Amino acid sequence: MFENKNSRTELNQLGEFGLIQYIKDNVTLSQPGSLTGIGDDAAVIDNGPGRTVITTDMLLEGVHFDLSYCPLKHLGYKSVVVNVSDLCAMNATPRQIVIGLGLSNRFSLDAIEEFYAGVMLACERYGVDLVGGDTTSSKSGMVISITAIGSAPQEELIYRNGAMENDLICVTGDLGAAYMGLQLLNREKQIYLENPQAQPDLQGYDYILERQLKPEARLDIIRRFKTWYIQPTSMIDISDGLASEILHICKASNKGCQIYEEKLPIDHLTRELGMELGIDATVAALNGGEDYELLFTLPISEYEKIKDRAEISIVGHITDVNAGYQFVDRQNGVHPLTAQGWDAFLSK
Ligand code: ADP
Ligand code: MG
Repeated sequence: MFENKNSRTELNQLGEFGLIQYIKDNVTLSQPGSLTGIGDDAAVIDNGPGRTVITTDMLLEGVHFDLSYCPLKHLGYKSVVVNVSDLCAMNATPRQIVIGLGLSNRFSLDAIEEFYAGVMLACERYGVDLVGGDTTSSKSGMVISITAIGSAPQEELIYRNGAMENDLICVTGDLGAAYMGLQLLNREKQIYLENPQAQPDLQGYDYILERQLKPEARLDIIRRFKTWYIQPTSMIDISDGLASEILHICKASNKGCQIYEEKLPIDHLTRELGMELGIDATVAALNGGEDYELLFTLPISEYEKIKDRAEISIVGHITDVNAGYQFVDRQNGVHPLTAQGWDAFLSK
């Protein structure tokens, strides 16, 4: 719809309404519950019977993302994924999102197109509809605020407070790679700042970089819970590292836990890069964050149903609250698990 693609179209040329029109023209609604999308004063939704689940996340330039190495398309994708991940953590099906954007005139239409291309890709991937938003100018960098709406039958919702003593503690996928990817990008940025002629050395680390720049929400896993006939007793998504998240579950459930270092799922590339960067892979898994995997608890009677699933690792079990929060290292040393970091006692 916009001609002369070769010349830069400024946002102030296009105006807020032009931008909204552009977004509207590029959105198709796929959820039957999205009755009215972009274009009126508010969206109208009927997601049918069951509970409505809502979550919101705000991303600030300079705090949550750095545009010098985060491509806008990836940023758009990731902004949607972090919200979808929160809905998955409730065992809810993601349905709609609305996006609030703060933009400066530094951005051209091309840049916003890139951002929305990432947003649309994630919407398609997870089957959610973009049904509205708000657009304002910002004087302090880019601001992204996304609200996601999901739904679930009441009895399928999974909260943080349902863990029971002796439950298995399970993790999907692998941990620590996203944090390691961020450290790699930071290192290359520093090298570039000191010598702009230097070429970034990111060879061989595609997987790690993808974990940082293009994370996925585990909608695939919560769908499989149904076919595996399992219903976790508690669940949370891992956005701040395993240690912090299991403490959330334990505190909400009034239970303790025991986590084993040797059971942590860590990709070999994460370990290799960790050695190169001087970062302990265990520390990255426990305290790194941004993995967007799921952490959940299951009654031990369900062990047979998950023991051979490649995408699930059993990393420990739930204990009585009086047993505390324990981390057992490879030498069978027992340490208190804290949200601040396990590396606090690594030097001992
Ligand atoms: P109002 O002034 O009534 O708040 P707006 O002009 O902000 O209306 O929005 C008009 C329509 O465009 C609404 O449906 C709104 O949800 C949608 N919209 C505005 N900004 C965005 C955006 N950045 N992304 C998606 N939809 C948007
Ligand atoms: Mg508005």
